[in-house]
Amino acid sequence: MGKVTGFMEAMRRTPSRRDKTDRINDWQEVYLEWEDTEARRQASRCMDCGVPFCNSGCPLGNLIPEFNDFIYHGNWEEALERLHATNNFPEFTGRICPAPCETSCTLSVNSDPVTIEMIEKAIVDRGWDEGRIKPQPSTSKTGQKVAVVGSGPAGLAAAQQLARAGHTVTVYERDEYIGGLLVLGIPEFKLEKHVVERRVNQLRGEGVRFRVSVNVGVDVTHEQLLERYDAICLSGGSTIPRDLPIEGRDLKGVYFALELLTQQNRKLRGQEFPPEENIDVLNKKVVIIGGGDTGADCLGTSHRQGASNIIQMEIMPRPSETRVDANPWPQWSTIFRTSSAHEEGGDRDFNVLTKRFVGDDEGNLKHLECARVEWVKDEESGRFNMNEIPRSEFVIEAEAVFLAMGFVQPQHEGLLDALGVDYDSRGNVAADGSMRTNLDKVFACGDMQRGQSLVVHAIASGRRAARQIDIFLTGASRLPTVTGYARPPIMARTGSNRD
Ligand SMILES: Cc1cc2nc3c(=O)[nH]c(=O)nc-3n(C[C@H](O)[C@H](O)[C@H](O)COP(=O)(O)OP(=O)(O)OC[C@H]3O[C@@H](n4cnc5c(N)ncnc54)[C@H](O)[C@@H]3O)c2cc1C
Ligand code: SF4
Repeated sequence: MGKVTGFMEAMRRTPSRRDKTDRINDWQEVYLEWEDTEARRQASRCMDCGVPFCNSGCPLGNLIPEFNDFIYHGNWEEALERLHATNNFPEFTGRICPAPCETSCTLSVNSDPVTIEMIEKAIVDRGWDEGRIKPQPSTSKTGQKVAVVGSGPAGLAAAQQLARAGHTVTVYERDEYIGGLLVLGIPEFKLEKHVVERRVNQLRGEGVRFRVSVNVGVDVTHEQLLERYDAICLSGGSTIPRDLPIEGRDLKGVYFALELLTQQNRKLRGQEFPPEENIDVLNKKVVIIGGGDTGADCLGTSHRQGASNIIQMEIMPRPSETRVDANPWPQWSTIFRTSSAHEEGGDRDFNVLTKRFVGDDEGNLKHLECARVEWVKDEESGRFNMNEIPRSEFVIEAEAVFLAMGFVQPQHEGLLDALGVDYDSRGNVAADGSMRTNLDKVFACGDMQRGQSLVVHAIASGRRAARQIDIFLTGASRLPTVTGYARPPIMARTGSNRD
């Protein structure tokens, strides 16, 4: 433990956000850097609890008290090593993880938690700046070949672990960029893409081969895959968005959130789109349906595109400002959160049901018809039922609507159906405790297996799958086990807990 009295002397402080009037004029990350002394001060707040709940609150089992101690003592190199012992990509989680570790931190029982996520970012960013993060190619090869389908954080983590175990790894990606949602979903202002590229280059240096713009199941058949590889890791994500099939859904101007976010990410890489495909909300009235982080990403993107008015709507009630009794520490806290995009402007509304999209004679969206709802607890089952409030209808003018209501399952048609994998009750690829599907030598991880979730879970799941594939191929594995526990995915994206 760095400083016994640290938690009584220092207050929680996160790095400042760039001025909001500046940052909405560009796409760069919102947070400014911390000075080293501040990282040390913040690390000194760690109490090195006998039972570090933060450590089990992190799905990766990050060794949080250990790296806090190293930072306090100025030992950045050891801190980086500890961080990488459990997490392949701390620069991703250090930027975009909602930090369930922090809601589990013992300090948060009656004070503000340690700024774990930002300490993580400071350690790994410094590691990159000082050139300490280099490829670590395996010195011995097993001669076994593994195909990883999908290059999101789950696939990348699995690929890196497998390559380090000496296997020959090929990652297939149907998009033209490597990184999955890290690159084409999550906006630049949360995660600049050079941060992903330098890590991908490290994987290349470790011998991982990437084949982009290859849709497995179409460009490479499932038979070819099974024939060419000794093991297959399915990490294709959860790609089918939840729709809102109400009247007017087909109007011009009603989009899925990812249509906006993916196109914007492609535009920032220099791609251009013809007018009929271009999604641009400059001077438009925008409504975002869905109160989570994907909705907040649409909000931040709409601000930067220059929307004139933005409302983010949610059918659920507004969460409480503080923990409720049914949601005690050290659980993930389902409280009201304000992200950087909310700070930049726009309105939020809760308990709103969208009933109909209404358009003009040319099929362009004009307005939404909505109604207020209330959630009433059924005393017998304990469940909340939604009731529409009579005569509460109202109209919101909008020229663009983004549906940000989550994802239902991975795409079945194509590869998965052709392979004949079993699905679980939610339509995700079913896998046992060893991440194995019902098919010999086929494993699954990430959102494709657990359903839509978080980057930290995707990395943890990719690491689990890699270890199990290694055991399958060689009979044993020196790859580390993942000690963090796999939470149910319901805590996904209820907002960032950064202050
Ligand atoms: C808009 C948005 C914002 C988010 N923000 C956050 C956040 O701030 N913090 C956070 O922790 N999480 C966030 N998430 C969730 C997080 O991005 C996902 O949980 C995570 O990316 C899942 O990783 P994955 O590797 O399982 O899948 P993905 O990242 O979805 O990657 C899967 C990849 O597989 C490829 N693929 C699929 N099928 C095939 C095929 N047949 N052949 C070849 N390639 C294929 C896809 O093209 C894709 O690139 C966000 C999600 C969205 C949609
Ligand atoms: S990965 Fe997320 S949960 Fe784990 S220590 Fe980092 S911020 Fe916390």
